[in-house]
Amino acid sequence: MLSVIYSEEFLQHKTGRSHPECPERLTAIVEALSQVDWKSQLSWQLPTSITERDVLKYIRQVHTLEHIANIRKIAATGAGYLTPDTPVSHRSYEVALLAVNAWLDGVDTVLEKNNPAFVLARPPGHHATKDQAMGFCLFSNAAIAANYALMKPGIKRVAIVDWDVHHGNGTEDIIQDNSQIVYCSLHQHPCYPGTGYKSDRGKYNNILNLPMAPGSTIDDYRPVFEQEVIPFLENFQPDLLIVSAGYDANHEDPLASISLQPADYGFFTQCLIKITHKIVFGLEGGYHLQALADSVVATLVNCL
Ligand SMILES: [Zn+2]
Repeated sequence: MLSVIYSEEFLQHKTGRSHPECPERLTAIVEALSQVDWKSQLSWQLPTSITERDVLKYIRQVHTLEHIANIRKIAATGAGYLTPDTPVSHRSYEVALLAVNAWLDGVDTVLEKNNPAFVLARPPGHHATKDQAMGFCLFSNAAIAANYALMKPGIKRVAIVDWDVHHGNGTEDIIQDNSQIVYCSLHQHPCYPGTGYKSDRGKYNNILNLPMAPGSTIDDYRPVFEQEVIPFLENFQPDLLIVSAGYDANHEDPLASISLQPADYGFFTQCLIKITHKIVFGLEGGYHLQALADSVVATLVNCL
C-alpha cells in the first residue's frame, strides 16, 4: 500500500484569482488518483492535526521567530502579501502549519512501513528561506522534514532530491551547513529564482546543483540522472530520501521552458526506488493541471 497524505484543509490556502498556485492543483490530482485502476493500493491518510503535534517546535529549528510571526500576523489581518508573488489568506497560517505536519507524517509513515508515501499538501516550501517567504512558499517543508527525520533513531543521513523546475534556494539556504543532509536539485537555468549554480557545493560538498538548459527533454535529463544524481546518492547512502516533487518541468507548464512529459517522472521514480524504498514525495510546483495530475500518477504507479 502507498500512503497519500492529504486533507481538504489544504484547499483553504487561497491565493486569489488567476494565481498559478491554486487549490485546483490538489483537486486535479485527487480526481486523477480516484480514477486509476490501482486505486485500491492507495491508503489515504489525514495529516496529524496542529493541536495534536507541536509542529512549531520543528519549524523553529529552521525558521526565525520573526518569519513565523510575520506569516501569522498577515494572515490574522485577513489577507496580504509576503512578497508580491506570495499571498496569504485568512487561513493560510494554520494551513501552512498543517502542510508541515503532513510532510512530518510522510517521514513517520515511510520509516514505519519502509515504503514510499506521497504528501499531497500546499502551500509548497522549497523557496522559503530561514527568514523569508517567497515564490509561493511559506515554510520550508522539505528541510523541516529532513531535520525531523534526523531526530529519529537510526536516521543519520537524509537526502533531498528536488526535481521541481525551479532551484530550491530555500532548502539549500537551510541545509548547506548540515553534514547530515545532502541536497540535489535539477532545475532550469536561467530561471527564477536565479540561484543553483553548479559551483555552489555546500560546506560539506553536500549540495549538487544540476542546471538544465531551457528546452531540455528527457534525453537531456536521463544522463544527468544516471551519471550525476544516482552516483551522488549512492555515495551518500541516505537512510531516508525526501523528494521535492514539483512538476513544472512539464512541457505544458506555463511557468518554465523545460520539455518533460508526465511519464518521464516515472523514470525519475524508478531511478530513486533503486536507491531506497524509504522515499517521501512532497508536492512542490506544477501549474498545468492535467500534466500535474498525470505526473503524480506516473510517480506513484512506479512505486507499486
Ligand atoms: Zn517550481
